Amino acid sequence: MALIEVDDVVKSFPSRHGSLAIMNGITFQVADNDFLAIVGPSGCGKSTLLRLLQGLDRPTSGEIRFRGQPVGRVQSEMAMVFQSFALYPWLTVKQNVALGIEARGWSPDRIEAQVERYISVTGLVGFEEAYPRELSGGMRQRVGLARALAVEPAVLLMDEPFSSLDPLTAESLREEVLQLWQDPALPPEAVLLVTHNIEEALSMADRIIVLSHRPSRVLAGVIVNLPRPRDRKSEAFYELTDYVYSLITEGGPPATTPSGQGARSGPPAATGGPGAAPGPSK
Ligand code: ADP
Ligand code: MG
Repeated sequence: MALIEVDDVVKSFPSRHGSLAIMNGITFQVADNDFLAIVGPSGCGKSTLLRLLQGLDRPTSGEIRFRGQPVGRVQSEMAMVFQSFALYPWLTVKQNVALGIEARGWSPDRIEAQVERYISVTGLVGFEEAYPRELSGGMRQRVGLARALAVEPAVLLMDEPFSSLDPLTAESLREEVLQLWQDPALPPEAVLLVTHNIEEALSMADRIIVLSHRPSRVLAGVIVNLPRPRDRKSEAFYELTDYVYSLITEGGPPATTPSGQGARSGPPAATGGPGAAPGPSK
């Protein structure tokens, strides 16, 4: 059984024009030990999808299952890392990291030990008593990561976690996240990385789900069978990047009509895989 099953999920939101269709039947699975990236254009519902997975919102139709059980309420086995870091400015690093585990009824000593462990794992030793405003963007995101890992989640959900960092900081944090991921002593079992950055997805994930423009559907599942560490300058990397770009640019229509009406005719056909690049995995 897959760890997560997303089964024909449709999502729409009420809008001035009636309803705005965001997802048009999304289906994919996440296995144990999967590092899955979800890529798609802005507004195609990536953040919404993570909220649905975590049980913070419900699909309009379709179903999401976690370990075979329908996701009905907020999932304590999933934790999220946000683009905006989402730290409390009035709390110290330590207090921010403790936030996710405080409701668990643990002894203060146990909470303290857990917080220290994940502060150490994420390279924050020495910054325990600092406030977010005293930290660089990269350090703030380490706090976001430590807070998520401290709950020892089965699934780590990452919503554009590197998008607001400068390129060098983003690159080193990506490498560190991969190292944490590859450490068998550390959670999580699966990572879902949402990004609009195709190179980022290809440099990190085992598999990529490519979403179309809104209302989104899965254009392809692409297996990234490139050796690690990924060489962004390799021919194979370029080919796969081109392939995913072409899926998004040729495989989907523009997001909305100028009037903002969401109505449209049937879904466009996905492009076939080019000879040189691997085709869709499913
Ligand atoms: P992405 O993360 O791919 O950029 P989002 O999931 O944030 O996309 O949003 C997809 C669309 O759904 C956007 O047009 C957004 O405005 C809309 N949307 C998201 N959440 C809500 C909501 N709670 N109510 C109404 N519209 C929403
Ligand atoms: Mg988003």
